[in-house]
Amino acid sequence: MTRVTIWNEHIQELRDAPVRRIYPDGIHRALANGLAGRPELEIRTATLADPEHGLSEEVLAATDTLIWWGHVAHDDVDERIVDRVQREVLGGMGLIVLHSGHFSKPFRRLMGTSCSLSWREDARHERLWNLRPGHPVLDGIGETIELAEEEMYGERFDIPEPDELLMIGWFPGGEVFRSLCTWSRGLGRVIYFQPGHETHPTFHDPQILRVIGNAAAWAGRRIRMDVTEARNPAPRETTR
Ligand code: ZN
Repeated sequence: MTRVTIWNEHIQELRDAPVRRIYPDGIHRALANGLAGRPELEIRTATLADPEHGLSEEVLAATDTLIWWGHVAHDDVDERIVDRVQREVLGGMGLIVLHSGHFSKPFRRLMGTSCSLSWREDARHERLWNLRPGHPVLDGIGETIELAEEEMYGERFDIPEPDELLMIGWFPGGEVFRSLCTWSRGLGRVIYFQPGHETHPTFHDPQILRVIGNAAAWAGRRIRMDVTEARNPAPRETTR
């Protein structure tokens, strides 16, 4: 069982009618409903407005994979919560960052780069290419995933070289993008997955939900350890 916490800033769904039409209960609820058919995942949700953004020490200690969607309120995320998320990832928790979460504080902190990219809201189609058939995160996914409409995200994406590049996205403007990437940070696994603009029904797409569910299981923590404290041990051997 992988215990998954889906975090969403949950702002545009409340104030922007086009977003509310697609995600009336919020992106976090759409994701939770979309993953509900996977018995190996135990899902809870948290939002920015909750006390401690819904990410208390207790919640994170009981989270194996944290999924993160944010866009307009990155700056409102408390640095203490960012510290906490970073420490949990280094200590073994998985983190899946979706779409505009590329500029979220936890992702930038863990990457150490600007995480900037090029973008254009022209709602044309996207074709995502499966580079690693057989990888657990791409289980059940064919040669490509086609989305009828998605925001263009293009290179150069200012990220450290991924440990694994699993999908490349192609857009009709000629752009390409490293759309599904993995890294290890400390004892944890970090995944970035590009689709998911708030005015498109991307998180209702069964194949996108399949990738996110696979990613949540694959990145899930195998251990929880505080790796931040330096140690000063006595020698294990005595010289003769
Ligand atoms: Zn977007």
